[in-house]
Amino acid sequence: MIAVGLDRIARAHERISGRVRYTPLVFSPGLSAVCGVPVHLKLECHQPTGSFKLRGATNAVLSLSDEAKKRGLVTASTGNHGRALAHAAKAEGVRAVICMSALVPANKVDAVRALGAEVRIVGRSQDDAQAEVDRLVREEGLTAIPPFDHAEVIAGQGTIGLEIADARSDTELVLVPLSGGGLAAGVAEAIKGRLPQARVIGVSMERGAAMYESLRAGKPLPVEELETLADSLGGGIGLENRYTFAMCRDLLEDVVLLSEEEIAEGVRHAFAAEGEMVEGAGAVGIAALLAKKVELRGPTVVLVSGRNIDEALHRRIVDIDGLKAMSAGGPVP
Ligand SMILES: *Cc1c(COP(=O)(O)O)cnc(C)c1O
Repeated sequence: MIAVGLDRIARAHERISGRVRYTPLVFSPGLSAVCGVPVHLKLECHQPTGSFKLRGATNAVLSLSDEAKKRGLVTASTGNHGRALAHAAKAEGVRAVICMSALVPANKVDAVRALGAEVRIVGRSQDDAQAEVDRLVREEGLTAIPPFDHAEVIAGQGTIGLEIADARSDTELVLVPLSGGGLAAGVAEAIKGRLPQARVIGVSMERGAAMYESLRAGKPLPVEELETLADSLGGGIGLENRYTFAMCRDLLEDVVLLSEEEIAEGVRHAFAAEGEMVEGAGAVGIAALLAKKVELRGPTVVLVSGRNIDEALHRRIVDIDGLKAMSAGGPVP
């Protein structure tokens, strides 16, 4: 089996401790009542930069040679990975270049700049931005840190699994948001290594679930990218995938898919019942429980992966809750 190794995950945990947050694992009375088993939330939405991606990015940066640190880092991500890498590089005094196309909205460009990274605008597509990454690696010796298919990135994300196993050794199930699979692969390896009886299930959206389609086909597949509330779960897994496809295939019990309405329900519940502002991708585990899409056998942990959602969109999603409750004549919780 392809694996990054429990040892590597444990080393990552030591390396990044004090640099990322040891996030809270909180009991959810509401979800526990709905589900009939104890449910806890692992709040990775509380990380600085708003998502768990800070763990993998920080571990990858700290694992570089001094030589590579001197030359700097590069990526084409404008989302949570780009933010995390910019933050982690700045904390270590390493140069980070984020390549993006001219079509990326100004607020995203500003967010990356505000974190201290250099922004390079090239071309008009994600492929153009990636071509610039490849050129900087080839011609200027920068190191590319990809968002998921990288051993130290996976090990960094896996540290969440160690924290869950340490906090609750009775955990029977962990629900993990799933896109490229760095998070699910790392967490599943840590959980299976520490709590062999526990299951790990991935959760994606129906619209453009690349890992789900690839696992069904038995090989990495390209998928059409569709607009979804869980925008951080969009994108392919890479046709040359090295780690995450095999790890998800071997370590995940199952993958469940959610409709857009179900994801919205998860975002609403997170806000109204848990007091957490969570993005679509971050809410899919909660949504899977509310939609009763997983068989529950015992204490369950839901990984809440991020909070970076457009505020106007969040308000719209949460408002519908208020409207529905009012039209049903009930109190707004
Ligand atoms: C990146 C991301 C995911 C998915 O992580 P993968 O390692 O690509 O599977 C889930 N939630 C949020 C908030 C993310 O930013």
